[in-house]
Amino acid sequence: MRANRIETLRRRLTSHRLDAFLVTAIHNIRYLTGFTGSNAICVVTRREVYFLTDPRYEEQAAHEVSIARVLVGKGRLFELIAKRSILPGGRIGYESEHLTVSALTNLRKLFPRTIFAPTAGLVEEIAALKDETEREAIRKAVEITDKVFDIVVKRVAPGVRESEIAAEITYQQRMHGAEADAFEPIVASGVQSAYPHARASNKKIENRDSVVLDFGCRVEGYHSDLTRTVFVGAVPKQLREIYGVLADAQAAAIEAARPGRTCRRLDGVARRIIRQAGYGRYFKHSLGHGIGLNVHELPRLSQLSTDTLHRGMVMTIEPGIYLPALGGVRIEDVVVIDDDHCSVLSQATKDLIVV
Ligand code: ZN
Ligand code: ZN
Repeated sequence: MRANRIETLRRRLTSHRLDAFLVTAIHNIRYLTGFTGSNAICVVTRREVYFLTDPRYEEQAAHEVSIARVLVGKGRLFELIAKRSILPGGRIGYESEHLTVSALTNLRKLFPRTIFAPTAGLVEEIAALKDETEREAIRKAVEITDKVFDIVVKRVAPGVRESEIAAEITYQQRMHGAEADAFEPIVASGVQSAYPHARASNKKIENRDSVVLDFGCRVEGYHSDLTRTVFVGAVPKQLREIYGVLADAQAAAIEAARPGRTCRRLDGVARRIIRQAGYGRYFKHSLGHGIGLNVHELPRLSQLSTDTLHRGMVMTIEPGIYLPALGGVRIEDVVVIDDDHCSVLSQATKDLIVV
């Protein structure tokens, strides 16, 4: 499985005319080698894979990393690359979205005759296609999040603080076997729910609030991400209307998601329905994002995306409408692209809930 990933990466190096590739993004190192620690560099040449880390991780690397030659050294890992003469001559690709300017300056000083070529998304595009093991881990994470939604939705009531619900989410996800939250849970009620990226504040939930609950967890390094919007006491008429619009937009996008379709077009399917209902300018973000070792990864589902859907991609579909001073609604599921259609992994109910 990891050998296939390295082979696919090597084919990409050939097509990008690279003699070797320097992996510095820790999530990509995990993807390629299985290492779960926080400090390492990986060098993939045409023939070898080198894994460099510091003495703190010597044991862990020996246990986790079987695909690469493990080298352990004190001090800077770039200097270890130089000392062990790992880099071949020619063009070396680096991850321009992850390597800092100061690290690149340092590299150029250490290897004055080497050409360092910026790349973007080389590993990420491979990682967008999930194998069965990865999908299973995501399925487990989604299952925990679904269960926890059923539990915490019962806690939503007037007088309860958003932060209390957030704490309950974190606690319950861990109790159900998650390694961690995928991100700080969002619990946004009333006017707060009109901010797509609100966090959980000390605000008390009030009657007639809409409450956006957006959270996920991590299992074996892989993430889930779920949003449901529930209503307290009663549903304001306009929010009931937009709930229906979003449910339709999401269902249409799920129906339209299949291999070969562009992500831009998929975003357009949902966006058109929301626009036709008169809420186009209140749908302020993209339709969704790939999910895996990162909460946000490829593919991107937006009007600017150049990505195309392929079998094995796992992503969210999450249209939202945010009305200033009234409140917001978002519905988000994790889906997987199969041979000729898309399957929804999230099972939490999408019926309109009034607590
Ligand atoms: Zn989310
Ligand atoms: Zn999301």
